[in-house]
Amino acid sequence: MNKGKLFLILGPSGSGKGTVIKFLHKEFPQAVFPLSCTTRTPRPREHDGDVYNFLTKEEFQKRIDAGEFLEWAVVHHDNFYGTLKRPILDALADGKIVIREVDMQGVESIKKLLPSDQVVSIFITAPSWENLRHRILKRSKIPDEELAQRQKSFEREMEFSKKCDFVVMSEEGKIAEFCGEIKKIMLDEIKG
Ligand code: 5GP
Repeated sequence: MNKGKLFLILGPSGSGKGTVIKFLHKEFPQAVFPLSCTTRTPRPREHDGDVYNFLTKEEFQKRIDAGEFLEWAVVHHDNFYGTLKRPILDALADGKIVIREVDMQGVESIKKLLPSDQVVSIFITAPSWENLRHRILKRSKIPDEELAQRQKSFEREMEFSKKCDFVVMSEEGKIAEFCGEIKKIMLDEIKG
């Protein structure tokens, strides 16, 4: 039977992860897109059960205690994020393709937990911090303090990208090219 494969998508804020995930939903309709849990508040137009289960800290802690997470981490501003063990492990055992966006900590933990031939990390990068900053601010206004935090994360993430299996450049105005590149990487990996 085919072995399932988990594709982990990561990259700095503003790099285009959301765009890629939307694209992959269309291109890989047979894939599983497991929900994660988070304690952050939903943004406008975000619904519980689309990408996340929104939990209180107490509910999140209960699930940690119950061993429901494959990994969990504190990401921005004290918020908890965790991938759920069951949907991911069950899909992999069924030989399915699984696609999930996580942060660097998630990649590191999952790489240690699952067989290396079943996990592929794809890092989405951008030409420079200036370029990303411009994209982030175009999307919405955010306080200077948060922008400074994102810049720090960007620097750490760029360092981490060296450890990822693939690094794909997302240049502004070239969405089709960069989505296509990710699709090709995935098809090659699925074929083995
Ligand atoms: P956002 O709140 O913008 O949706 O996500 C914030 C960060 O949390 C992103 O870097 C995203 O990749 C990461 N993230 C989302 N889900 C998970 C998860 O289940 N585990 C980990 N470790 N990080 C996650």
